[in-house]
Amino acid sequence: MFDVLIIGGGMVGTCCAYECATHGLRTALLERQDLASGASGRGGGLLLKGATDLFSPEIVSHLLANQQLLERFLQNSGADVEYVRGGSLYIAFEEDWTFTQNKVHEMCSAGLAAELWDATQLRSALPKLTPKAVGGRFVESDAQLSPPQLTLAFAQAAREAGAEIRTHVAVHGFVRSKHGEITGVQTQNEAISARHLILATNAYTACLWPLLESVITPTRGQALLTAPVPHSFPFACATDYDLQYWRQTRSGQILFGGCRRLEVGNPFGKGTDSMETTPEVQDGLKEALLSLFPQWRSAIRFERSWAGTMGFTPDHKPLIGRLPGHENVLIGAGFSGNGLPLVCITASLLRELIVQASTSLSLSAFDPGRFFSKEG
Ligand SMILES: Cc1cc2nc3c(=O)[nH]c(=O)nc-3n(C[C@H](O)[C@H](O)[C@H](O)COP(=O)(O)OP(=O)(O)OC[C@H]3O[C@@H](n4cnc5c(N)ncnc54)[C@H](O)[C@@H]3O)c2cc1C
Repeated sequence: MFDVLIIGGGMVGTCCAYECATHGLRTALLERQDLASGASGRGGGLLLKGATDLFSPEIVSHLLANQQLLERFLQNSGADVEYVRGGSLYIAFEEDWTFTQNKVHEMCSAGLAAELWDATQLRSALPKLTPKAVGGRFVESDAQLSPPQLTLAFAQAAREAGAEIRTHVAVHGFVRSKHGEITGVQTQNEAISARHLILATNAYTACLWPLLESVITPTRGQALLTAPVPHSFPFACATDYDLQYWRQTRSGQILFGGCRRLEVGNPFGKGTDSMETTPEVQDGLKEALLSLFPQWRSAIRFERSWAGTMGFTPDHKPLIGRLPGHENVLIGAGFSGNGLPLVCITASLLRELIVQASTSLSLSAFDPGRFFSKEG
């Protein structure tokens, strides 16, 4: 009998395992493939607290606490996940300049420091940027890292704290008591009992919890990596309402992702868990990067491309908390395009729910029941 059994070995599941095990809970994690084989092995690694889809004033405390927890974890564990707190720069054009100005105002009013940059500041930070860009939003405290390395670091720390982490073990369903209460999970070979379950299954949650089929939609995201170029900028970058994003890795490669709006078969990548790349998006990514930095057109080589599956919710905020009607089944899933700004606070608040039945920060913005009517 475990105190907590976590399903899913991405960054959220492994962080939950670390959090629960370090607080003395008998913890197990089951992952059907390898650790970080889902979105966490394919993410861009940008930690953008002001991301268009994610940010709202009510979650500023969560965003700030998350980064504190992340930095404390990295300091305590000594893990090298290529973390750089180099800030983030949102690049604005004529059409989204007003949006950018408003966003800076909204963030600052909510207690999240952001600067409005004019074209001169933009040009001095990114001399090769297209002259069409008119300004930007700089968030000094934003960061970047390698998501697969972070996931493995959480798993390693969880194991050291006593968690049992099993890979290549898929959960097929739940075990119930004669009163209907969920008391554990069923894998191919055994039933495993646990007092609490955490679903950290992101895009794949509806396979286990069909009621969430209309709430968490598998969504394909695509990215590419260039050959190394001289180190040009230490901050993470985004543009077009954060639909295109990029950063320069420690090795000097440009990781560039987005262009979901170009998907032909699945608009915005929604409704597919295929991890195949598509030519229209990959061509779009290359063209978007070269239009932003025209001088790279003859100088840059593309090395690798990939796709991954995100779990999108209707309001782009994850579900964090108890599943309605189930005191002992918790969920941390549906992170849409932004897992890093909330991963550690998710694990911390779920652990608080298990240990003390209340949380130090409100979970109302992330209530798993928010898409269901009270009656149903
Ligand atoms: C191309 C791309 C770029 C991205 N860029 C960024 C970015 O720059 N910044 C950012 O913050 N976020 C980004 N994201 C989103 C981010 O990667 C995700 O939000 C994050 O990885 C979600 O982590 P997770 O642990 O919830 O999900 P996942 O990593 O998907 O983990 C879920 C795990 O559950 C396992 N699982 C599912 N069902 C079962 C079962 N029945 N039994 C056992 N195991 C099961 C899966 O195998 C999987 O490993 C990006 C995503 C993609 C695809």
